[in-house]
Amino acid sequence: MVVLVVNCGSSSLKYILYDMRTETVAATGLIERIGGGGDQHAVVHHRPTDKDRVDYESSIEDHYAAVQETVKLLTTGEGKVLNHLDEIDAVGHRVVHGGEAFCSAVLINEPVIKAIEACVSLAPLHNPPNLLGIRACMAALPGKPQVAVFDTAFHQTMPRRAYLYALPYELYERHGIRRYGFHGTSHYYVARRAAEMLTQMGRDGAHARIVTCHLGNGCSMSAVADGVCVDTSMGMTPLEGLVMGTRSGDIDPAIIPFLEEKLGKTGAEIERMLNRESGLLGLSGTSNDMRDVSEAARNGHEGARAAVDVFCYRVRKYIGAYAAAMGGLDAVVFTAGIGENSPELRERILMGLSFLGLDVDPERNRSGRGDRVISTPESRAAAFVIRTQEELVIARETLEACKQAVAAG
Ligand code: AMP
Repeated sequence: MVVLVVNCGSSSLKYILYDMRTETVAATGLIERIGGGGDQHAVVHHRPTDKDRVDYESSIEDHYAAVQETVKLLTTGEGKVLNHLDEIDAVGHRVVHGGEAFCSAVLINEPVIKAIEACVSLAPLHNPPNLLGIRACMAALPGKPQVAVFDTAFHQTMPRRAYLYALPYELYERHGIRRYGFHGTSHYYVARRAAEMLTQMGRDGAHARIVTCHLGNGCSMSAVADGVCVDTSMGMTPLEGLVMGTRSGDIDPAIIPFLEEKLGKTGAEIERMLNRESGLLGLSGTSNDMRDVSEAARNGHEGARAAVDVFCYRVRKYIGAYAAAMGGLDAVVFTAGIGENSPELRERILMGLSFLGLDVDPERNRSGRGDRVISTPESRAAAFVIRTQEELVIARETLEACKQAVAAG
């Protein structure tokens, strides 16, 4: 089976082509600045695994054209990895918001598309490009199964006490205002991998209480007990929770009307500020990129030091909260760009958590590669670094949804 995984952002399309017999990557690619208009061209990067990379600029007006370009790159020219488009057996789409309608991957048909459309008001920036990608792939690969894999699905097991906001209940009933959570594919994958690694260590992986920290440009954490999600830090939208590249994470909601009045800004302008101008960028005044912010902090930049302090403190606070919510802690997992690559921040987050039975091993934390244990051998709770593999999960779930559809006739 060959599976194409497609992830459409507002002006980008990322793809990975997998040979699922061996779970190997045949090619990856990214098309950026789709629909720039005028003389701004889209930038295309195609990376076939066994051939030279292909990079160029081209006028690509929408996601339909981007899918056509992807198909062309995969099947023709120097970087081709397929002889014919027919070799693609199925397409897996990352869809950001599935609301309460989806708790697992589904084969896409018109009712599914309608249900994803119904979630547009909950994710106005994300679901429309996801839908465009789906329609474009349906047109480019007619008759091939298309599967939607939702960022929200893994979190659908949260109990009511974790997902309800203490607002008038009818707002939940009428408008679906509740915590949904995101990065579900990543939390699912690393929690499962951590359970496997705990079992290999002779511990009870299947019934472990695991806190997963997805620390990338977007950041979120989940509490996973007995393999299911029981709480997560992002909310109705990805804005809630941790400090992120440009998102504020948790704030007092009364700040919004206060700022509307003080700054004479509209709600939409404040929302933009909270999403695009806050977080590491807002606090440090330097960058949204943790590498730059950490470097500036090391050089004594006050704003950058404050940004790193608030970032680490918030992650620590959530570890404590989730340990309490689950009645104990068996493992903490770090994943994504910051989580996988910054021993310095991992150490700052984990230092002094001995009272939770967690002792980080500074040497293990600083050295080593791949999925690994960074706690001491005596530590009652384990700490892991695990590389997230969201696209592989999407490809696996796509295959599984296809098999189930065949089995169901
Ligand atoms: P992601 O969204 O998972 O690609 O993660 C992007 C974030 O990871 C950016 O803030 C990067 O600065 C950060 N990152 C990547 N490598 C490192 C590193 N070695 N140290 C600190 N942050 C890093």
